[in-house]
Amino acid sequence: TKSAGRNGYHFFESSMNINVHNQLQLIQDLRHALENKEFVLHYQPKYDASNGQVVGMEALLRWQHPARGLLAPGEFIAVAERTGLILPIGDWVLDEACRQMRIWFDTGYTEWKVAVNLSAIQFSNGQLVEHVSATLKKYALPAHCLILEVTESTAMQDVESSMTILTELAVLGIDISIDDFGTGYSSLLYLKRLPACELKIDRGFINNLAKNTDDESIVSAIVALGHSLNLRIVAEGVETEKQQDMLKSLGCDTLQGYLLGRPVAPAQLMLNLDEAPDA
Ligand code: C2E
Ligand code: CA
Ligand code: CA
Ligand code: CA
Repeated sequence: TKSAGRNGYHFFESSMNINVHNQLQLIQDLRHALENKEFVLHYQPKYDASNGQVVGMEALLRWQHPARGLLAPGEFIAVAERTGLILPIGDWVLDEACRQMRIWFDTGYTEWKVAVNLSAIQFSNGQLVEHVSATLKKYALPAHCLILEVTESTAMQDVESSMTILTELAVLGIDISIDDFGTGYSSLLYLKRLPACELKIDRGFINNLAKNTDDESIVSAIVALGHSLNLRIVAEGVETEKQQDMLKSLGCDTLQGYLLGRPVAPAQLMLNLDEAPDA
């Protein structure tokens, strides 16, 4: 009937309004999140595949939202990027990760590297190199303590400008990691020219490793390619013993995933490491 249709329409319209309202609310909340100190970093360990030693940590952003609880990046990074808020947030992440790395360094973990994820917007912002260099200086950290993770698609978006930025970062002595490798349309030719130290095989290929022989061939090919370019190969998203065994025998250098350690707050991380079985 006409009235049902009208109701349907009204329902649709009001749920759209709720969505728009939620988006606006999210943007507004995000604007205050920094000054209210609502962001925290969780850290997930990375392990040397050959001896099970912790080689470093990846910093993963979390938002302690006053009403909604702890939010993962999937809930707000896209909005932060659209609004440009990712720039001040990204600055905070870098500062906070270096502050924490300084503490670990002073505790004696001088060989650890802290990895920070960069969004494409930060990457193409002209101030990145200067800012990274100033932050290392602020915490008197050697550059080898820092890894910057950029996704394959970010790095390949504008190869010439990426080359320039990555080269400047590499000159500072910072490690560059190409994240989510295998998901973009990467040209192997360019990969060869990028001054990266590390390739992180996307979690998608690790997921079905034990079931899908195609994925095994892909991982094996990425390892061979990466090693021929002198890159360290990291497998992320390792969830099972079976995956771990396969990744080790396929020649991955570094392992990361829920099996070995979930992302947690720094205090919890140190407790977990005390109890962790050898990888
Ligand atoms: P990513 O850099 O690929 O990070 C890996 C994601 O996989 C993280 O999700 C991590 O919690 C999750 N993960 C780790 N091990 C496992 C596993 O064994 N199984 C499964 N299923 N998942 C695992 P998270 O923390 O939700 O982050 C999602 C994405 O958000 C990150 O993907 C990264 O692209 C982005 N991100 C995180 N922190 C930052 C940040 O500080 N700045 C920027 N620009 N992006 C960030
Ligand atoms: Ca990453
Ligand atoms: Ca990744
Ligand atoms: Ca990813």
